[in-house]
Amino acid sequence: MQRAKLSFVTHLEAAIDGTRLPHDTIQTLHKDRPLWVRYDLEAVGRTVDAKQIAMRPPTLWRYRELLPLPEGAGPVTFGEGVTPLLPAPRLGEELGIEDLWIKDESQLPTGSFKARGLAMAITMAKHFGIRRVAIPTAGNAGGALAAYAARAGIEAFVFMPRDTPVVNQMECVAAGAKVYLVNGLITDCGPIVRKGTEQMGWFDCSTLKEPYRIEGKKTMGLELAEQFDWRLPDVILYPTGGGTGLIGMWKAFAELRALGWLKSEKKPRMIAVQSDGCAPIPRAFEAGDRFAKPWENARTCASGLRVPAAVGDFMILDAIRESGGLAVAVPESKIIEAMRSAIAAEGISICPEAATCVLAARKLVAQGRIARDERVVLFNTGAVTKYVETMPLDLPAIDDPHAVDYAALG
Ligand SMILES: *Cc1c(COP(=O)(O)O)cnc(C)c1O
Repeated sequence: MQRAKLSFVTHLEAAIDGTRLPHDTIQTLHKDRPLWVRYDLEAVGRTVDAKQIAMRPPTLWRYRELLPLPEGAGPVTFGEGVTPLLPAPRLGEELGIEDLWIKDESQLPTGSFKARGLAMAITMAKHFGIRRVAIPTAGNAGGALAAYAARAGIEAFVFMPRDTPVVNQMECVAAGAKVYLVNGLITDCGPIVRKGTEQMGWFDCSTLKEPYRIEGKKTMGLELAEQFDWRLPDVILYPTGGGTGLIGMWKAFAELRALGWLKSEKKPRMIAVQSDGCAPIPRAFEAGDRFAKPWENARTCASGLRVPAAVGDFMILDAIRESGGLAVAVPESKIIEAMRSAIAAEGISICPEAATCVLAARKLVAQGRIARDERVVLFNTGAVTKYVETMPLDLPAIDDPHAVDYAALG
């Protein structure tokens, strides 16, 4: 197959030891660890500037020179809109943060930011002529993969824990994926995919096991910078599972700095947040380790954070430390109430994963690790409507619509 040049990509680079790998063939891991996509940033800078980008349609593809989009090829897309960066004054007041913002990823296709990564990964899979993809998932990645694969005419196999939120199961089935419920966690689904790749002819779309999902997730950082007029905030709170988004944003900021597009030197402190029911990253951070030990008996209602072991653990921990940030665990038992009250405060469709960041913000303000007047961005990575089982409802009924007792309505 004739392959177009990937616009400004120069090569791939192994994150663990810097080995250069060619980008014109399919690549996965190097020494079982992820790859970075590297660009000729000088050429990017000569070709486009921030003003030109501002004039393009408001989708993640406006940053195409900083994405591995093959020249002349269209992306596999549903029109991934630039997501709103919303001021959150009422939640901010409750948390003691005067300048709080929520980057609301719940409005993306399939209701989570997984759309960013999988739009990119499937665009590249299609470019390489891949016909069958497979993914282990905690939920939303499967839903996004199923949708983008359908859009691209690629066959999709999805392996998820059997207690994955039912909406995730449904969206995969609806999009025509072959879906299997696995007695175990995402770390049990991973080997099923890995061992099956050869026999089944699958391409493995696991988090960070192909190089392009990071590039899609990187657009969160590009958008954030542009929305704040190319000045980065003081603090970013990020609900961390496999860590693609945190790693991707940190990469985005480095590329923007190299391009000279940032108007201030300020680096945000990256704060990775997990539930204390599955907190391998905070544990490794506290211990000063570069690699995280797998978490035993992982459990959390924030299903996207139920990742006991992450192949990019060192990339997450490196980014946090370089940024002067930290990793925190918050109580599992408080997530749903924090989610409910944050949604009630702002009306934004906040998912359980992002609710961990609300708890983290409260804790860090109380500890003096976030100052009241700092600019803080909290990532809302998905829509609450995907988690129907997390909020048991017991609503009062009106049995006779013609005889309403208004005094009892409260
Ligand atoms: C996957 C997921 C996360 C974790 O994202 P990573 O970038 O893999 O750390 C957080 N929130 C939601 C809703 C998710 O689906």
